[in-house]
Amino acid sequence: MQPDQLTAQMEEVARLLAASQRVVALTGAGISVESGIPAFRGAQGLWDKYDPIQFASLQAFEADPGLVWGMLLEMDELVRQALPNPAHEALARLEALGRLQSVVTQNIDGLHQAAGNQNVIEFHGSGRRLRCHACGRLVSRLELDLDKLPPRCGCGGVVRPDVVLFGEEISERAALTAFALCQGCQVMLVVGTSALVAPASHLPLLAKAHGAQVVEINPEPTPLTGGVSDYSLRAGASQALPSLVEQVARLLEREAAQP
Ligand code: NAD
Ligand code: ZN
Repeated sequence: MQPDQLTAQMEEVARLLAASQRVVALTGAGISVESGIPAFRGAQGLWDKYDPIQFASLQAFEADPGLVWGMLLEMDELVRQALPNPAHEALARLEALGRLQSVVTQNIDGLHQAAGNQNVIEFHGSGRRLRCHACGRLVSRLELDLDKLPPRCGCGGVVRPDVVLFGEEISERAALTAFALCQGCQVMLVVGTSALVAPASHLPLLAKAHGAQVVEINPEPTPLTGGVSDYSLRAGASQALPSLVEQVARLLEREAAQP
């Protein structure tokens, strides 16, 4: 995409956002790459060592929870050190401007909340919470004995992060809330997701089928590009979102100043 094409598309998208009350953002691992957490696709670092499909699956966890915990500890360290980047901050600003109803995130890193977004649906749960795989109790980190993996709950069950592993169902509450938001939104921002992991990948289709404009922000094309997406901003999230939201803020200021 030529720089002037990107600029023109951004201006159009900013006008669209400024004019819309119901905007939903669907985010994926790409938005957190610049916070130091590698995405699954286009992978580096952690995922060269651990194939996520193999490691982050229910089957792998049940077969050998100690082995999977080795990966979880490394992911946990990355997540706990990570800070929101300008893309997360821009989405928090868009919410504060009254132009973002909710973030539906596939990420488990908690960085949208850390940036200040109030309405966040964690579609795949949160790596910041732990629960017992057997009895379901939420377990505090202070209770964990990580010297012997996997850590165990008082009931004898294995403790795990409160995330959705491959092969597990999305929580009904998260799924129903996300579906309702997608059906009701006027604009869906799809940021940093390869749109390959179902059912999250169906959300832009659902929004589109209910009349929403779909705006994709991703440096790479995805299966949504050119078909489902009405706009494809081919740029990194922390490059595109802050300037997009700045433009929305200026349009709203101009609107407010009009007699
Ligand atoms: P993915 O790894 O499949 O795809 C990442 C996408 O982000 C790619 O399309 C890539 O082109 C794009 N991308 C890379 N850098 C970007 C940038 N700077 N700005 C914008 N986009 C960028 O991610 P996914 O679609 O979210 O699916 C992977 C699954 O893995 C999800 O379920 C997610 O829960 C999980 N995951 C989460 C984290 C996290 O919590 N931070 C990290 C890795 C994986
Ligand atoms: Zn238990």
